[in-house]
Amino acid sequence: MRTIHVIGAGLAGLAAALALSEKAPGGKGELRLVLHEAGPQAGGRCRSYHDRELGLLLDNGNHLVLSGNGAVRRYLAMAGSRNGLASPPGPIYPFFERDSGLRYEIRFSAGRFPFWLFDPRRRVPDTRARDYAALAHLLRAGEETVLGALPWPEPLYRRLIEPLAIAVLNTDPGEASALLFRRVLAETLLKGGRALIPAFPPHGLGPCFIEPALATLTARGAEIRLNQRIAALRLEGNRVAALRTGRGEEIALSAADGVVLAVPPWVAAELLPGLKVPERFESILNIHYRMEAPRGEAGFWGILGGLAQWVFVKEGVVSVTVSAANATLEEPAEALAERAFADITALFARPPSPLPPYRVIREKRATFAATPENERRRPGPRVGLANLALAGDWTATGLPATIEGAIRSGFTAAEVLHAA
Ligand SMILES: Cc1cc2nc3c(=O)[nH]c(=O)nc-3n(C[C@H](O)[C@H](O)[C@H](O)COP(=O)(O)OP(=O)(O)OC[C@H]3O[C@@H](n4cnc5c(N)ncnc54)[C@H](O)[C@@H]3O)c2cc1C
Repeated sequence: MRTIHVIGAGLAGLAAALALSEKAPGGKGELRLVLHEAGPQAGGRCRSYHDRELGLLLDNGNHLVLSGNGAVRRYLAMAGSRNGLASPPGPIYPFFERDSGLRYEIRFSAGRFPFWLFDPRRRVPDTRARDYAALAHLLRAGEETVLGALPWPEPLYRRLIEPLAIAVLNTDPGEASALLFRRVLAETLLKGGRALIPAFPPHGLGPCFIEPALATLTARGAEIRLNQRIAALRLEGNRVAALRTGRGEEIALSAADGVVLAVPPWVAAELLPGLKVPERFESILNIHYRMEAPRGEAGFWGILGGLAQWVFVKEGVVSVTVSAANATLEEPAEALAERAFADITALFARPPSPLPPYRVIREKRATFAATPENERRRPGPRVGLANLALAGDWTATGLPATIEGAIRSGFTAAEVLHAA
């Protein structure tokens, strides 16, 4: 029987495993699947955990996806996820500007024709419909940065383009690749509001994305080995001949066996010396507060001019996200919690109150920095080894480091190995 070893049980590895397991339902086909995960739980950068101090199930970070993310939908269906995603009734993005106190909502039109541009109540305040022609210029962008690609009209840039670019690319727009931004816009904004409905898992990333996938894989006979780090690959000619675990055990591969390598880029470069991978990373800061707040129509708000960039309201928790957050890495957790809480207090127009119980989570290498230089360092799934396919949000998916990109890379790796 052919065995496929999936190394890394983040979304890319799980997507590859799900796709491969469909080819061997019930585990009785010709395929045996083994997942090797270094950590004590699956999910990688997309995970939930029980925070004992706060007494809450928390996500490592708020994750937002869009209705146009086709691979996400396919993955959730394959995993049999029933604790899925929650969405507002349409493509609605509410914003709050800290300095001026201005509140506005972008309400995209459902179809492709952008009726919203011609209604001042649905577009960015103080902009004209013709300002948005700038987006058409972006569609010709190549090697430039988002900021450098064109002279963006204000306040369109500050009130919409900048917050969206930082959220999508996790990189300052002065450094971020216009090409990557353009690709995301082409798959979402340009397809119209039906592709732009925001969605996030109200009951946590684990119950939505991870646990259903693990249950489906286990039911199909896959073995999931947690706390199993793969420390080395033994290569013979153009094949992987064996895996060596962190405990020094050797797992030999037969001629028909294969490997999906779905680990972060720095681990892949250690396991495959000479592999070119992205070198610069950006952090994401999340602060979760145990408190109640009104959900509003969307369940989240974008904030301009504060520390908090996005505020999500879930049951018993208000969570703040700060992307491209390398500059906050040295700042003490309590100071950050105080600053972001001031943003929340202003957002909900509440009188000042003591800081509620909170948890600060800093993901230092949350994603590769979406710069043109890093973009050139992203390898495809094939790296010259006949029985190995690479996966991960950092491989050449054409997208920035997102759930959609990670899952797509896993599906592609499964196809590569299946074809092999
Ligand atoms: C805080 C935060 C917020 C985010 N927000 C969003 C968002 O709003 N929308 C969005 O689309 N995306 C978001 N992302 C990005 C998204 O989480 C990632 O793109 C995705 O989870 C990456 O999945 P992956 O499988 O490629 O990598 P990973 O999740 O990093 O998975 C790699 C796995 O390999 C394991 N591993 C490492 N070394 C070994 C080894 N030697 N042997 C075995 N296993 C190993 C790791 O433990 C890990 O489980 C966010 C990320 C973070 C951190």
